[in-house]
Amino acid sequence: MKQSKLFTKTRKEVPTNEEAKNAKLLIRAGYIHKEMAGVYSYLPLGLRVLNKIVEIIRREMNAIGGQEVFLSALQDPEIWKKSGRWSDEAFENWFKTKIKAGGEAGLGFTHEEPLTNLMKNHISSFRDLPRYVYQFQTKFRNEPRARSGIIRGREFLMKDFYSFSRDTQEHEIFYEKAKQAYQNIFAEAGIGAQTFLTFASGGTFSKNSHEFQTATDAGEDTIYLCEKCKVAVNKEIFVEQNTCPECGVKELVEKRAVEVGNIFSLGTRFSEAFGLNYLDEKGEKKLVIMGSYGIGPGRLMGTIVEVLADEKGIVWPKTVAPFQIHLIAVFDENGKVKIAAEKLYSALLKNGIEVLFDDRDLRAGEKFADADLLGIPLRVVISEKTLKENKIETKERATSEISLISESELINLLNNS
Ligand code: ATP
Ligand code: MG
Repeated sequence: MKQSKLFTKTRKEVPTNEEAKNAKLLIRAGYIHKEMAGVYSYLPLGLRVLNKIVEIIRREMNAIGGQEVFLSALQDPEIWKKSGRWSDEAFENWFKTKIKAGGEAGLGFTHEEPLTNLMKNHISSFRDLPRYVYQFQTKFRNEPRARSGIIRGREFLMKDFYSFSRDTQEHEIFYEKAKQAYQNIFAEAGIGAQTFLTFASGGTFSKNSHEFQTATDAGEDTIYLCEKCKVAVNKEIFVEQNTCPECGVKELVEKRAVEVGNIFSLGTRFSEAFGLNYLDEKGEKKLVIMGSYGIGPGRLMGTIVEVLADEKGIVWPKTVAPFQIHLIAVFDENGKVKIAAEKLYSALLKNGIEVLFDDRDLRAGEKFADADLLGIPLRVVISEKTLKENKIETKERATSEISLISESELINLLNNS
């Protein structure tokens, strides 16, 4: 993509109505637009990042047998009354709306109820189990505080995955697979080293649950980390158990963290409410055992910014960056660089490389400052100076490492990374 054609502009001024670093940087760089508190739109560069995160998650969810769906965001109160979660006492941050023709609808904040209800049409025998269903879908929550940028939206994208198993044993085998898939996702998204499996009490659902917490001062949660085992307990658990759940040591380190994902055993909480039964091999009626597994792709994107950004701007891991390289042409007076840069850009595109090409008529300093703010992993500079040596200059955003290499070396480097 040519930067001269990109409709978004970077800005130097820090937005005054934002406290969170992720929102400040993402807005300044033109990745997102703030609609109102807790509500953000994704612009071309931001959507590319979000889609890459979604793709990483989708691959892992398909690998553990997930079948993708897209359930409705408007929800039927009658279904929610069956589980007792329609009332504002049961769930305080519902968004509800009136239907002109009569009645009400809820704006989905999660999908256990509608999905369990729906699965009744498809599960009746042990042969129909296990089944795994997931989606990427917008959720609405009337969050009392929305000060963490895209980490806590009132409208946000969620990947929610649900498992339907015959019995506890089958459920637990799957639960371990899901745990591993989650670890793969956070590692691939570039924050594996900072993200810890965290023992959590099940909240409203069950005793058996885990969170995936990324350590950062921007976090709204507190975790207690065993630095040897790299696992943590959350605050609720810590009150009752202040030792490492794996090695038993007492020296847990308190840290601020963001919950980027969680996995829950639901037991029969919802299958009971909806009568989701099956007949086993002996013809006996049994309740389906369920689990739910959530990740916020937008929250994950915001967390990556919080964890990896430096004083100059965003630093994307290669796996989620909007483009692989940021090609910057430093124009000369006789137009030679312009011609060479266009040629290089075409060659890179032909080789399937994702390039943001800064072809704007701006001073080099302004282009470099924008490149630092945007955070694309590799900056590639073509200038009068590099042309003389028949080379291009590369600079790693994360390490500031500079090299002078040839065009073919660059293409090889990108195709093999
Ligand atoms: P929190 O305790 O942070 O409010 P939660 O327990 O409400 O999170 P879930 O309802 O289980 O979270 O949602 C599943 C996942 O969706 C979370 O792990 C998180 O990644 C994401 N998520 C939850 N709330 C938000 C939000 N307001 N904005 C963005 N992502 C969110
Ligand atoms: Mg919440």
